[in-house]
Formats: sequence, structure tokens, C-alpha cells
Amino acid sequence: MSLRFLKPSLPPLSDVLAQYAPCYSSGLITNAAIVARFEQAVAERLGVAHAVAVSSCTSGLILTMRVLELTGEVILPSFTFFATAHAVSWNHLTPVLVDCDPQTWNIDPAQVEASITPRTTAILGVHLYGNPCNADALSQIAKRHGLKLLFDAAHAFGASYGNQAVGSLGDAEVFSLSPTKLLVAGEGGIVTTNDSYLAKQLKAARNYGDTGTYDPELRGLNARMSEFNAALALTGLDLIDAKVAHHNEIAERYTRHLSGIPGLSLQQVRPNDTSTYKDFSIHIENRDHLAEVLEAKGIPTKKYFHPPVHRQKLYTNAKAGTLKNTERISSGILSLPIYHALTNEEVDQVAEAILNV
Ligand SMILES: *Cc1c(COP(=O)(O)O)cnc(C)c1O
Repeated sequence: MSLRFLKPSLPPLSDVLAQYAPCYSSGLITNAAIVARFEQAVAERLGVAHAVAVSSCTSGLILTMRVLELTGEVILPSFTFFATAHAVSWNHLTPVLVDCDPQTWNIDPAQVEASITPRTTAILGVHLYGNPCNADALSQIAKRHGLKLLFDAAHAFGASYGNQAVGSLGDAEVFSLSPTKLLVAGEGGIVTTNDSYLAKQLKAARNYGDTGTYDPELRGLNARMSEFNAALALTGLDLIDAKVAHHNEIAERYTRHLSGIPGLSLQQVRPNDTSTYKDFSIHIENRDHLAEVLEAKGIPTKKYFHPPVHRQKLYTNAKAGTLKNTERISSGILSLPIYHALTNEEVDQVAEAILNV
């Protein structure tokens, strides 16, 4: 076999160019009409008051925490991509890395609560692989302790929590639109929130902090989205439902093949939620051996996320809770090929190769 791990499926170039052409003729090629249309389309789709397009999920997370004027400690999972932690430490906030739930592999609300100190100002959950966090439990904890609740929703465009779209949870959620995610802008991110003040400040923050007075109130970035990126994402929005549906079909097919095998376990999505399955990962003993055998058969895999953040050199001294589940899951994690163009036959072949091992 010769499979890809991932293959972004993009909208037809002619459709993107049709969106882009008027903007190109006008010369207004960054943060203009298409960005505004994209923001409005996202806000409507997700049922949230504001969507603010930015240059990446990382810059969106950095600016959101900056605008909220967080101080002290921010609690986040260790089982995530390192950009989540970078965004916290970039703001000179102290990341506090906590364990994940053994079933959903998402941040464990009980561990969050156990890690709260007088210095804690926010909780930053991650919808891992697009599987929505337990937002109700986190929201209750945040309320009880007067904390902000944010979500790194990098993987989760198109996911839903009960009958609510991911994007409308907590104080703000931040999506990534980079090519490994389901909704692709090339590079880009989008912050969604019902907080009008936050949205207004973010629009300044992505533009050096300037509100139009040429006398910025905060040290912003240039984190604007260009019109071409917005045209790509806006056109790609039409494909999202089909992509999420197909990723779910692939996940079900893998699950059917791989359920009930001793030593192999899968991430649980709670019954009322819909994951995007941006990634489909298995947990297995002897992960490295399996990865090698699959590689030799032309089946590429990734270890999302191994090592976990607290095992990376930038974060070995980070404040952390007990990370028993994170250690165990991360050491056996293996992410399998999943993308829109992957066929049922290919899924069967990958599963069969795993079953053979
Ligand atoms: C991809 C990713 C990011 C970073 O997104 P960018 O748009 O590349 O900045 C952040 N968090 C998680 C969990 C990711 O997977």
C-alpha cells in the first residue's frame, strides 16, 4: 500500500478565485470584505454573536488571553499539541498541566478543580481530535471559582456539544484553519465569542492594538487574516458538513474493526456529542512496534500527542498535577490515516494490517 497520513481536501480553485477576484481588483487584499463575510458566515453557522478571524489559532489564543488580561496560572491539559501551552507562556502566564479523562482523553474536570489556587485565572480546555470537552462540568467549576473558560478548538470546527455547535462554549473558543484541520484557510484561525467587548478588543489586538486612534491601548500583533485566506476558508465552509460526516463514517468503520481487542482501546465520544474526528487515534500496548510494521507496509501513522507537553524540554519544570492517564495514553497513542478522500477499502486494509499485528 502507499497511503497518505493526511490529504487536505480543498474546494475547487475556480470557486476560490471567483470569491477572490473582486477583492484583488479593488486592491484591498487583507482584512477586508471577504474576511468580514467569512466572520459573519462562521458566527451564523455556529450560533455565536462574534467571530474574529486571525492569522492562526496560536495567535488567536495569545491575543484572547492578552485581551482578557489574565494573570497568574492557567490550567490546561498536558495531552495536547504544544501550541496550547506556548500561547499561555507567551503571555508570561504560568501553565498548569493537568491530567485527561481515561475515556474521552479530554481535560479531566476533577483534576482541574483539584489544581485551582488563588492565582488561577482561567481554564483552557482542548477538544481533542474534535471531541467536545465536558463543557458543563468545566463551566460550573469556572463559575464557582470566578475563572474564565476558554477552549482551544483547533480540531473542532464542525463538532457539536449536545445540540450546541462547538464555538459557542465558554468565554471564547479558538479554531485553527491550517491545512491539517478540516476547515482550511491555508493559514488562519478564528475566535468565537458572545462577549462583545472581547470581540471588539480582539479586532484591535490583531491590528497592532490600534483602535483607529493611532495610540494603541494594548500591545497587539499583526495577526490579521488576508483576503485570499478568507476566500479559501469561506469557500471551504460549504464542504464542512460532508467532511465531518465522512470522518465520522471512517471512525465508525475503524471502530467496528478494532473494538473488543485486548490491549487496544479507543477514545470515547459522549453519546450526545459529535466529534469531527480530525484525527482517529488508537491506544495500544507496543505502539512503536505496530507503527514500524505499518510504516513498512506503506501505512503512515503519527503519535498525536507523544510526548505529552510535560515531557517536552520547555515544560519539564512546569507546574503539573498527577498525570497518570496522560502518561499511559500518550505512551500508547497512534493516530491512523483519516481524510476526506480515504476510501472504505483503504480503511479496511489499515484495520486488517493492525489486526494482523
Ligand atoms: C494545530 C493546533 C494548534 C495550532 O494551530 P495554528 O493555526 O497552526 O496556530 C493549536 N492547538 C492544537 C490542539 C492544534 O492541533
